[in-house]
Amino acid sequence: MTGFGIGSLRVTPLVDGFGLECARDVLTRAGVGDPWAEHADQVDEGGDLRLAIGGYLLRTGDRVVLIDAGVGTIDNGRYRGGAFLESLRREGLEPEDVTDVVFTHLHFDHVGWATQKGQVVFPRATHHVHEADWERFVTGPEAEPGAVRKLSPLTDRLATFGGDTPIAPGLDARPAVGHTPGSTVYVVSDAGEKAVFIGDLAHSVVELVEPGWSFHFDADPVAAMQARADLVEEFVDTEVLIAGGHFPDFRPGRLRSAGDTITWTTNEED
Ligand SMILES: [Zn+2]
Repeated sequence: MTGFGIGSLRVTPLVDGFGLECARDVLTRAGVGDPWAEHADQVDEGGDLRLAIGGYLLRTGDRVVLIDAGVGTIDNGRYRGGAFLESLRREGLEPEDVTDVVFTHLHFDHVGWATQKGQVVFPRATHHVHEADWERFVTGPEAEPGAVRKLSPLTDRLATFGGDTPIAPGLDARPAVGHTPGSTVYVVSDAGEKAVFIGDLAHSVVELVEPGWSFHFDADPVAAMQARADLVEEFVDTEVLIAGGHFPDFRPGRLRSAGDTITWTTNEED
């Protein structure tokens, strides 16, 4: 899988595996009985939404950055990972070469390779995450045992933030909460070009081209819907690339409007 450029910077998707979610169960649209009827091309024959699982590699200056870290070695019939480190090695990189891991949020399908068997997988990397997600999943009263086990080993290599924060040259964290308490988008910019990595602000492009979708696992559905609407309003009809956490083949795209209609366009040659 080839990558895409942002100015002089290069981004490469790192495939770990895939996930399956029943589209009609996880994504509904207020006031629309069968919102998937018009989006049959986005689901498989069984009505499942097929989620790309993995992350993105960004090289900027002397920094080697991962945006999310896949699902790990899981294989439960619905989610399957395992290829993330091979994908990294295909780019000529070993885990020790990674200087930064930035998490859009701390759900299991974004942190799978953060640690394996209690060991930090990217031993030299600083791991960046919104403080509200760290509290929600690891240290707070609602912390989840699986997340505590997976993520606690990162404690000594952690950098939390609470608002808009520069991470590396050309890479900025921008909280966009709702899906989780600390969900964050990452803005990559160079030489007048820009891409925004939205994590699970949307699981399918349908959520960007039509208003009113809600995702079953959004922690705060109202805030998540607002964050999506704000994103669309900010970037529609701009040259900014939008890269999802689970969009097909990790292919980024742009939003174009014509009247009341918004469409998602990708560069097939990218
Ligand atoms: Zn996800």
